[in-house]
Amino acid sequence: MTSMTTDNYAVFGQPIKHSKSPKIHQLFAKQTGQVLDYRAEEVGADIFNTTANYFFAKGGKGLNCTVPLKELAYQFADQLTERAEFAKAVNTLALQKDGSILGDNTDGCGLVTDLTVNHQIKLKNTRLLILGAGGATRGIISPIMQQSPTQLVIANRTIAKAIGLAAEFQSLGDSIKGCGFEGLAGMQFDLILNATSASLSNELPPLPKNLLAENGCCYDLAYGNEPTAFVRWGIENNALKSVDGLGMLVEQAAEAFYIWRGIRPDTQAVINSFSL
Ligand code: NDP
Repeated sequence: MTSMTTDNYAVFGQPIKHSKSPKIHQLFAKQTGQVLDYRAEEVGADIFNTTANYFFAKGGKGLNCTVPLKELAYQFADQLTERAEFAKAVNTLALQKDGSILGDNTDGCGLVTDLTVNHQIKLKNTRLLILGAGGATRGIISPIMQQSPTQLVIANRTIAKAIGLAAEFQSLGDSIKGCGFEGLAGMQFDLILNATSASLSNELPPLPKNLLAENGCCYDLAYGNEPTAFVRWGIENNALKSVDGLGMLVEQAAEAFYIWRGIRPDTQAVINSFSL
């Protein structure tokens, strides 16, 4: 546990060793003249509640929660923002003035900002495919639907989860459909988002030929020092752009920083410092 003489923040998750979040928040703090400490702590689901309670009891100001803790963080929060309530997953916890803990989900707006602002990839009137139906997909459906795609298909290895998510979010538009990877045969998309964790083990979901439309783009929510398996798939399939999720990571962090400190950092400078 960190010292409580400065404002303390942390990211909890498992595994957490390779997290770039401490570096990102330190760069934000330096850039905006804020004094704070941000650590990464290995916290599994079994000790999440105890460790989070201890962190806030010792004066901690805010937490990020990553795999596998987002649904537990959703349960932990005393109050939720509308987008966190919708996602049923929380990646940011913030201590409020009255001592209560607010839960928010900044993943979706981080992704939309990275796509539309940083990469100039439009979502309006596009046929969109999300691969995967886990916690990350939960967080991004609603912000994506706000951008008015013509179609949103969720494809997952466990088909029932894709169909269940599509049904859960039906109120956002009846263009949301769920299926398995085999169900994608014959379909084409302008934008394919990989929200499976397959890239983390250098694997790829089984994808049919001609899935990507001409001038279509690919985006992997995962990121790495080398192009991920899905980013490579996009390049091999002539994607106009095929990029990883580093920008999303920085943008969701910037939104959390804003919730905690009330200041918006310059994300491009931080993204560039990682890309060098
Ligand atoms: P979850 O564990 O909740 O979900 C994992 C998903 O991946 C499930 O749909 C699972 O399918 C699928 N999957 C896992 N392995 C394979 C495989 N070998 N082939 C096909 N599908 C597979 O993880 P999250 O949703 O939280 O995270 C997903 C990804 O998004 C991770 O890579 C994570 O790093 C990234 N992410 C990036 C962020 C960023 O800021 N850039 C923010 C949040 C997430 P099934 O249901 O069948 O098990």
